[in-house]
Amino acid sequence: MRDVSKIRDQLKSHLETLNLRIGEIEGDLRTAPSADWEEQATETEGDQVLEGVESSALREAQQVHAALTRIDAGTYGKCSTCDGPIGEKRLQALPYASQCINCVTE
Ligand SMILES: [Zn+2]
Repeated sequence: MRDVSKIRDQLKSHLETLNLRIGEIEGDLRTAPSADWEEQATETEGDQVLEGVESSALREAQQVHAALTRIDAGTYGKCSTCDGPIGEKRLQALPYASQCINCVTE
């Protein structure tokens, strides 16, 4: 049995960082649009970029959250597709990986 408490701490602080970032982005997105239409256009472009950053941060937060759930369930480090071990090196590079290198389709 691997010692997962360190990984768990790592994932938790990573999740906190992501949540902070998401909160900041949402705060930025909620700021009132300016009256000047030219400025508005620039803001809309900026908002699209922010939304992209937000959705990738949200996706990552979901993956981190899922990894924490797997730690609690005792299935951490197991591939969600083939049930095989994900592998130490891959978990070091991506602690919230849910699939082994053979099953990753991304
Ligand atoms: Zn697999």
